[in-house]
Amino acid sequence: MPLQQAPLSRRTFLAHAAAAGLGVTLTRRAFAAATTPADPHTWALLSDTHIAADRARVARGVNLTEHLTDVVRDVLARPRRPAGLFIDGDLALNTGEEGDYAVLTELLLPVRGAGIPITLALGNHDHRARCWAGLPGERRHEAAAGERQAAVVRGERANWFVLDSLDRTNSTPGVLGAEQLAWLGRALDAHADRPALVMVHHNPNTGGNKNGLTDTDALLAVLRPRRHVQAHFYGHSHRWQIDRDESGIHLVNLPAVAYPFAADQPSGWVEATVLPAGLRLELRARDSRHPGHAQARELAWRT
Ligand SMILES: [Zn+2]
Repeated sequence: MPLQQAPLSRRTFLAHAAAAGLGVTLTRRAFAAATTPADPHTWALLSDTHIAADRARVARGVNLTEHLTDVVRDVLARPRRPAGLFIDGDLALNTGEEGDYAVLTELLLPVRGAGIPITLALGNHDHRARCWAGLPGERRHEAAAGERQAAVVRGERANWFVLDSLDRTNSTPGVLGAEQLAWLGRALDAHADRPALVMVHHNPNTGGNKNGLTDTDALLAVLRPRRHVQAHFYGHSHRWQIDRDESGIHLVNLPAVAYPFAADQPSGWVEATVLPAGLRLELRARDSRHPGHAQARELAWRT
């Protein structure tokens, strides 16, 4: 079963918000967003939040709680309420402690209060069992792919396939494994009626890079022949970059919510709108002075 957090009723949200000490401004913004019409084609894509149990924690000059709070505020201020929000792994700072996930849950409350469902992927700084323990109210249902937290999120124009590439906590490379890849093949075949968008924390290992997904070739062997697979999203490298695989699949590197590794890279999130024959991706940089902020790219589906 995937890591998902459902929207909250107004009453439950208010109770949780009070317990978490959520400010009036964010509470009001969640209520305002809840009355904004939901757009079934728009999705909020986040990655690498690196949240710590200590809300004052600063890493690489960045207050981690502040960055996610700013991103949540921006998501809720958009003119269209997204159909769902994803975080593509590295939810936690370093070693995936229960307290990290408890704070993450609190920081995401306004999203759920606004009626937006959340799907979480795991990265190399997460810990599977402690993530489950730290997310209150979440229960483990039967696993889709063994221990792996894989999910299918259905959309009107495209479906999302969220995978779990966590290998060893706090060790950089990732792996999907044969069992999860077999599940992915079956899940893609069962949902071949519309375009498929695949989300993995680790970047493809290409060009001699060994710090990404160690079974990249096996993943591509599943994705390439299935012509409805249109895009592969990943985080891990804390970069905003779009490439194209030789088979025409779009490779989208999501920026980190936390800190970029390179000075010219933004932190922030990406607003994705699924079009009838492609995808519109708009960078929402946390610093609106970043030259890429509010710039959109349109990607056409491969034929
Ligand atoms: Zn990261």
